[in-house]
Amino acid sequence: MEKEERPMKCPSCDGRGKSEGIACGELGELRCRVMSIPCQLCRGTGGIDNERLQAWEYGRKMRADRLKENRTLSEEATKRGIDIVTMSKMERGEIDARPQPPREDTCR
Ligand SMILES: [Zn+2]
Repeated sequence: MEKEERPMKCPSCDGRGKSEGIACGELGELRCRVMSIPCQLCRGTGGIDNERLQAWEYGRKMRADRLKENRTLSEEATKRGIDIVTMSKMERGEIDARPQPPREDTCR
């Protein structure tokens, strides 16, 4: 059977499409509570394609390396010259942080 086009099971939510998250301040509430939210990695589908999976694994590795060096997220972001939100998204695989071959049309 060909399996190449089927998305793989999302490693973040184990294919459930949901993960436990802390929601704060939404809907005007000031409290924080744990709730089930759609998985950020697979966007609630429970499946993930190879590209995203690799981006996620790269982000995990970045995070592991950072923790080994005892740097905080904000220190790492400063070191890389990016903001902490971007850094955090890179570590979660929401932004593909893998080195990309330079492309002329994205040069500024
Ligand atoms: Zn997921």
